[in-house]
Amino acid sequence: MNDCLFCKIVAKEIPCNEVLENDDFLAFRDIDPQAPVHVLVIPKKHFEDITELTQGDSSLTSGFMEFVSQTAKLEKLDKGFRIVLNTGPDGGQSVQHVHAHVLGGRGLTWPPG
Ligand code: AMP
Repeated sequence: MNDCLFCKIVAKEIPCNEVLENDDFLAFRDIDPQAPVHVLVIPKKHFEDITELTQGDSSLTSGFMEFVSQTAKLEKLDKGFRIVLNTGPDGGQSVQHVHAHVLGGRGLTWPPG
């Protein structure tokens, strides 16, 4: 996707603060962190959102969640964390490349705004 910010990060055209990478996924620090740990996890292949990802290869969907868990473990979020998948305009999605926010390092309130 030519115009996708996260595809440009995958292609290393835009730098990121990388946390973890494998052949299919990349985890990097959010540029505007909302918690002491705020990491974004993305598939390297472009999918607009979680609904599009889950229509594809199911092993990629399960791999995505495994990679999220590996990221949380690497970040030592032993006391817990939150995974957020903002989806569509009502969900507050601002980047149209599916990404999981992994938030932790402090007690998180509920409900979200
Ligand atoms: P969302 O609003 O759920 O689509 O989340 C998009 C996230 O991407 C926001 O939390 C932004 O702070 C983050 N973001 C935008 N540009 C960058 C960037 N260049 N590097 C890291 N995170 C970014």
